Amino acid sequence: MDIALLFVIIWLPVAFLRQTVCIDPRLLPWLKKLLHPHGEAVRALLSFTLIYLILPVLALINLWRNTGEVTTALYNIVMSVGVLAVLLLFILAYINYLPETTSFMIKLSGITLTILLTLLGIVGWIGTPTYIATYQPALQDRQTLRFIPNGAGGYAASEAPFRFETDLGERLDSGSENVYWNQAVDFEFPFFGKTYSQIYVTPSGILSLEAPQYHPNLQNDYGHFPGIFPLLIDLEPTDGGGGVYVRKDPDRLVVTWNHMRADQRPDWIFTFQAILYADGRIDFAYNGLPETLVFDHNQIPSANPWLRGLTPGLDAPVGQTDNLTSGAIVGPNGLVQDFHNDFRRYLGRFLNPLAAVALGGSLVILIGLPFLFYSTLIQPLEVLLVGIRKMDKGDLGAQLVIKYRDEIGFLTRAFNEIGAQLNILVNEMEAQVNERTRELASANDALQLRLEEVENLKEELQEQAIHDPLTGLFNRRYLNECLEGIFSAAKRNQQPVGMILFDIDHFKKINDVAGHQAGDRVLQALGNLFNNSIRKEDLAFRIGGEEFLIIMPGSSLEDTGQRAEEICQRAEALTDILPVVSYHVTLSAGVAAYPIHGTDYNTLYQSIDHALYQAKQTGRNRVVVFSDAIV
Ligand code: GH3
Ligand code: MG
Ligand code: MG
Repeated sequence: MDIALLFVIIWLPVAFLRQTVCIDPRLLPWLKKLLHPHGEAVRALLSFTLIYLILPVLALINLWRNTGEVTTALYNIVMSVGVLAVLLLFILAYINYLPETTSFMIKLSGITLTILLTLLGIVGWIGTPTYIATYQPALQDRQTLRFIPNGAGGYAASEAPFRFETDLGERLDSGSENVYWNQAVDFEFPFFGKTYSQIYVTPSGILSLEAPQYHPNLQNDYGHFPGIFPLLIDLEPTDGGGGVYVRKDPDRLVVTWNHMRADQRPDWIFTFQAILYADGRIDFAYNGLPETLVFDHNQIPSANPWLRGLTPGLDAPVGQTDNLTSGAIVGPNGLVQDFHNDFRRYLGRFLNPLAAVALGGSLVILIGLPFLFYSTLIQPLEVLLVGIRKMDKGDLGAQLVIKYRDEIGFLTRAFNEIGAQLNILVNEMEAQVNERTRELASANDALQLRLEEVENLKEELQEQAIHDPLTGLFNRRYLNECLEGIFSAAKRNQQPVGMILFDIDHFKKINDVAGHQAGDRVLQALGNLFNNSIRKEDLAFRIGGEEFLIIMPGSSLEDTGQRAEEICQRAEALTDILPVVSYHVTLSAGVAAYPIHGTDYNTLYQSIDHALYQAKQTGRNRVVVFSDAIV
């Protein structure tokens, strides 16, 4: 069975090894594939191969223990540690190749489970020997048990007054050192409805009624043959009277195991007797049992007191058999007290709760622990994570539910407070920024208004600077500014520039007669007249008290003279300037032109001034063109 187990188990690593090599698509010798595993799946399979390789090693050690190469103590240690190691390695390897994020929980569960099993194992190891030492098989020294055929084909068993036949008869010879010897004794004996003529006596407390029995086969053969067991245990004779004795009387057969030593326990000495009466009755008498019978649980069953009772065998008709002693099993197998099973049950009472705790604990750890971790650690952390993501997106007011008052709860509360404070701060800052923005905007508006005012003032000032306030014509200052531009443009374009200088005739008189204000009104009216009488490219200046200069870029001397005449006529036609006094304004004008009369302003001005003088001299109210004057 142990060899079969080894071959069954060795298939696990072999199958995994095969799979490891097969799923690796590289064209390499298999050993190279194993030495340099490529890819997650291959590495996982290789890990499991190595882990499962421990199992056949354990099976091998089990085999060696049976052949005696490994001591039982070493076997026990290797088995316990080996199975736990396989379990732990399996869990760790398994989660290592899981794409899950909760491997922490599984790892913790696995380690906790291993610790639990280790602790329970240690309790078992330490507790078991002490507990076993308290076991006593239900055997009583100096006692006689009597089995009487009960008429139903079976036996009624009862305790009888103690009686030990002191005449033991002849000592049976083993014939050799073989402890498994059988000695056939002729004796007619009815047993479970069948009569047997030979009784086979063995040194191990067995009487077989049909065929020799070798107790190495007993684990298989027990129950299959008609047998009488005063007490089945491996025994060997002691020196000085020790041995198996048989006394055969006509009415009875007395078989005595006298001073027999337990094969595995030299300090245990047994003396007991089986008396087979010709009428079918059987007595077991015990006259010397060891004080304490502590079971050596690591030995085969027959190393300890194993069986007591009667088994009918498979061929015998079976009848009703009564019970006597506690722990006896009554039924088709006869009446048997199985101390070995009794011991196992007794051991079970100690180990079963441990096993139940191991099983239940494993279940609790494998199912409960992940659940516990999920609800107490993972879930609150996820809540916190959701909050952090919300905050990341700008939702500062997010308040998280606090589930437990633990570290994570504390963290969540701190997060809530920080969020709330941040929210207040941000709101306050936003309000402040809005306020500031409003203030800035209004300041900006005011500034803009001021700027416009300044700009208007500037424009006004500029206007004022180049205009004469009374007539609205350009002033002498502006004339100085314009001159260079006018003449350089004329030169560039090779165009003429006409110039007229006007002077009001006898203006002093108006002042004298109508007053200075009336004179101003005349000046204003003439200003309007000049402005209305020139083209838009022409310029009209007031250059003295009542002297006006008109510059006409692009106008020929002739056109300019013409224009001067027109203006004089229009001025004379002005009738409504001073309605009170009937007065006609007359003008004298001097005309000259660029480039005929000069190429610079001063020369030209002298020309028109000269012409004007001529006009005054020649009677006023007239236009004199400078060329005329020269002529
Ligand atoms: P003429 O025909 O020779 O030019 O005679 P006139 O009286 O006009 O003589 P003149 O040109 O020398 O006289 C200028 C007079 O113009 C002197 C002054 O009283 C007057 N006048 C100068 N500026 C102003 C002014 O701004 N307002 C007024 N009402 N009179 C002015
Ligand atoms: Mg004048
Ligand atoms: Mg004048």
